[in-house]
Amino acid sequence: MKSYLAYIFDLDGTVYRGKEVIEDSKTFISYLKEKGIEPFYATNNANMTAAQVQEKLKKMGIETSIDRIMTSAIATAKYIATAYPQKTAKVLGGDGLKQALLDEGVEVVTEQPDVVAQGMNTELTYHMLADICFDIQNGASFVVTNPDVKYPTERGFAPGNGALAEMVHTVTGVEPLYIGKPASNMLELIRTSFDLQKEDMIMIGDNYDTDMMCGIQYGIDTLHVNTGVSRTDDVKKKELRPTFTVDTLIEWVGN
Ligand SMILES: [Mg+2]
Repeated sequence: MKSYLAYIFDLDGTVYRGKEVIEDSKTFISYLKEKGIEPFYATNNANMTAAQVQEKLKKMGIETSIDRIMTSAIATAKYIATAYPQKTAKVLGGDGLKQALLDEGVEVVTEQPDVVAQGMNTELTYHMLADICFDIQNGASFVVTNPDVKYPTERGFAPGNGALAEMVHTVTGVEPLYIGKPASNMLELIRTSFDLQKEDMIMIGDNYDTDMMCGIQYGIDTLHVNTGVSRTDDVKKKELRPTFTVDTLIEWVGN
């Protein structure tokens, strides 16, 4: 089995499910660390800051440094800081997104923004959604952390950030620019920050449409795990298939 320099793990459904670590993934991560390989983590979840992700992983017994954690909020903030220098942004999202924008030096405003940055916000109200529709109709650009339409919960699927962004799209006629997976922003940030080659990178995840398509379109190897959203049987029927599929990551321990 080929060894990679950069193993990039999705989090929900790959490393943990909600508050529970997936033991086989934890074992594989420990195995990599024993070999001297420090994994990366890339999540579409824009709610948490990198520090909060680090703390969550620590509670599950997985230690990592903060620079190994990439979130769609960080990638969105870096995109806005680069694509819209000296411009203002309104945040419709959680702490993760607001903090990431401030860390990039973006001026966060509540009125007349140049850019609307939308991430998952469970405190969302009708008036907040209406406000960003008005901002976008007044010319603000529309940048969204991640396109996930559904958010899995114990009771079934809840609306994900993508579903809310599409509501705004329907009203305004303005297409959102999505930054999280399957867009390649997070992988490209990891590659350039750590001076990696694409052949040294592998994307590991449970969701075909986001994780696997992200890696496939970016041009790196991909490993699908059967511990979350997409089932292996369905993934194997796709025209564009991941490089590898496993039930759990225990199959890669010892490789
Ligand atoms: Mg996942």
